[in-house]
Amino acid sequence: MLEDKLQQVLSNCDALSNPFVSKLRSLCMVPSVSAHGRSLQEAAEELRAIMVEVGLNAKMVKIPGGPDALYGELPVQGAEKTLLIYNHYDVQPPDPLEEWVSDPFAADVRDGYIFARGVADNKGAIVSRLGALKAILDAGILPSANLKYFVEGEEEVGSPNLPKFISKERELLRADGCLWEGGHKTPSGRPEIHAGVKGLLYVELSIETADKDLHSSFAPLVPNPAWSLVQAIGSLRDGDGRIQIEGFHDDVIAPSAKEMTRMEKNEFDPEMLMKWAGVTSLLGSASSKDRAISLTFEPTCNLCGIDSGYKGQGSKTVLPRRATTKIDFRLVPNQDPDDILAKLRKHLQDHDFGTIEIQVYSSEKPAKSDIDSNIVEAITVSAQTVYGQTPNIWPSMPGTGPMTLFVDELGIQCSMGVGVEHTGSGYHAPNENISIVDFTKGMKHAAALMLTF
Ligand SMILES: [Zn+2]
Repeated sequence: MLEDKLQQVLSNCDALSNPFVSKLRSLCMVPSVSAHGRSLQEAAEELRAIMVEVGLNAKMVKIPGGPDALYGELPVQGAEKTLLIYNHYDVQPPDPLEEWVSDPFAADVRDGYIFARGVADNKGAIVSRLGALKAILDAGILPSANLKYFVEGEEEVGSPNLPKFISKERELLRADGCLWEGGHKTPSGRPEIHAGVKGLLYVELSIETADKDLHSSFAPLVPNPAWSLVQAIGSLRDGDGRIQIEGFHDDVIAPSAKEMTRMEKNEFDPEMLMKWAGVTSLLGSASSKDRAISLTFEPTCNLCGIDSGYKGQGSKTVLPRRATTKIDFRLVPNQDPDDILAKLRKHLQDHDFGTIEIQVYSSEKPAKSDIDSNIVEAITVSAQTVYGQTPNIWPSMPGTGPMTLFVDELGIQCSMGVGVEHTGSGYHAPNENISIVDFTKGMKHAAALMLTF
């Protein structure tokens, strides 16, 4: 292709940056928090309008039991391949609110950055990918492949209703490769490609020992649920962080030789991670390479929160009636969340911490595409065009998404790696942000990919 046309498309992206930043800000002002079932339809409507405006044949699709998803397509005459683009318009709850510098749904712009819940995860990527299509069409050309955009509205709660839909709509989503969710760069500007996701099991454990809080003088006689819970939690890992649930690691598949070779070429800087996270130390004493391997291939058991008893100002001598904790397990290839849940249940029963109720909030399998697949190749080539740098290619990202439905159910190779986020974007955290420069670059990368695939 016609270098001139590419240059025209890239300069169109510059021209479209401001109007698409406005669309993005407006979409971010809709508080589409799926955990609270809030404003989902409104966000879907607003997004559909943008999809139609850029030239997609876009419609709402009913997801039985869940919020509507959006589907938009652009058939390209003569194209031999189809590129599917997956995103989600729902966001995480914005809490803790007091830690935000500006209202999480005001989409405030400061020093070239947009601050909003969902701007990085995942509305920025959606809007930039729509801007990319507009830039191509404005240049009077078409993408090299048919395009299908699919945007769901319950990714942040584990896409519970998507599996049923996908199994019925195989034809609708059929494609030769799928551009997944988003992407970011290393602090030195190297784009990051992730050809897989970890799985997830999210549970709440609770222990209730009385029907009311008691005076703490009863402590010699009355069991304290907080102690039981702390002991239960403590039994899940050893001092080195190795998960102690029997059989937890049994099904883990080790990375392939090809993946390990690829890992050697990737750049990972734990110092930068510490800097943006504001932490003074990291777990263990591994080398940078080993840390990258842990982040990519290790399953985790993470405490998201613990709650019991009195946490207000000053003291209150109380023996709480109830204690709860929320825990997420990130799972790696071949681990199954249902199997891990059964093993967790057995572990808690065997150790006899009292009656522990387990509530499951989400359950998703891990997924992985081939790091040599055509989608990874096309993202790599287009990244080189736009960023002038060879990307890192990771077999998996440390996070989760419903990729297994596309890779394992539909047989479509998927990869992340075209996005607008940066290392300090603060996904799921206060002051989530992206830079407008990155937004425009991400739009260019998406456009170059649409002309390359
Ligand atoms: Zn997320």
